[in-house]
Amino acid sequence: MQFYKTDLHLHTVLSPCGGLEMSPASVIEKVKESGLDIIAITDHNSLKNCDAYIAKGEEAGIVVFPGVEIQTAEEIHLIGIFPDLEHALLFDAKVFNSLLPVQNNPDFFGDQVIIDKDENILGMEERALINSSLWSLNEAVDAVIEYGGFCFPAHVDATAYSLLGQLGFIPPDLNFKTLGISAKCKVVRLKTNFPLVEKYQLIRNSDSHYLEQIGVGYSEFYIEEPSFGELFKAINLKNNRYIKIS
Ligand SMILES: [Zn+2]
Ligand SMILES: [Zn+2]
Repeated sequence: MQFYKTDLHLHTVLSPCGGLEMSPASVIEKVKESGLDIIAITDHNSLKNCDAYIAKGEEAGIVVFPGVEIQTAEEIHLIGIFPDLEHALLFDAKVFNSLLPVQNNPDFFGDQVIIDKDENILGMEERALINSSLWSLNEAVDAVIEYGGFCFPAHVDATAYSLLGQLGFIPPDLNFKTLGISAKCKVVRLKTNFPLVEKYQLIRNSDSHYLEQIGVGYSEFYIEEPSFGELFKAINLKNNRYIKIS
C-alpha cells in the first residue's frame, strides 16, 4: 500500500463558470507539474467532457476518473465518481434528463464547450448546466450508486451549495463516510462550527475552475493501486484504506 496524491473535483471548459484555459492538454500538464497521481473530472451536471481528459491523461500517465458535480433540488453539490466512461455516459443521459429544459445564456454564464483530447470543439452544450437537477439529494445519491459510482458531498465548509450550508446536518440514511472540503477549508474551524464532522473522514479537493487552482487542494489516498475499486474502499474506510488530507 502507498499514498497517491489525488484531486477528485476539477472542472473543464464545459462548466459555464470554468475558464476557457482549462483545455485537456493544459489541465493534464498542470496536474503532472503538481505531482498529482489521480484526478477526476467533475463538471456541473454533465459528464460530456470526461472522455477528452481521460484520453489526455492516459498519454501522460495520469489516472483520470469520470465524474460529475450534481446540483440537487435542495441546491446541494454532490460529487459522483464512476468506474469507467461507459457507466459515466449512461449516467450522463440520466442526469441530463433531470435538468430543466432551460437554454444556457453564454453571455451571462459563459460558454459550455464540449471538446476532444486535441482541443477540437465538438459542440456547445445548449442546456443550462448552472441550474439544479430536479433530483433530491437522496435521488441523486441513489442514481450514482445505481450506475456503479460512489459519491460524497462537495465542499461542506462552503456556505453556498453545500450539505451543511443548506441542511445544517448530515442525513444518516445516506451512509456517507467521507465529506468533501474546499481547498481553503480550516478544518479546526469547521469542526468547531459543526462538531458532528468529527465522525467523518474528510477529502480535500481543489474544485479548480482555473489552471492556477490545480494542486492547491488535494488529498492522499492510502491504497494498493490507483483503481476505482481502491478509491471506493478508501472513501468507505474499508480494508485499512483511508484518506489523508493536505
Ligand atoms: Zn460546487
Ligand atoms: Zn465544483
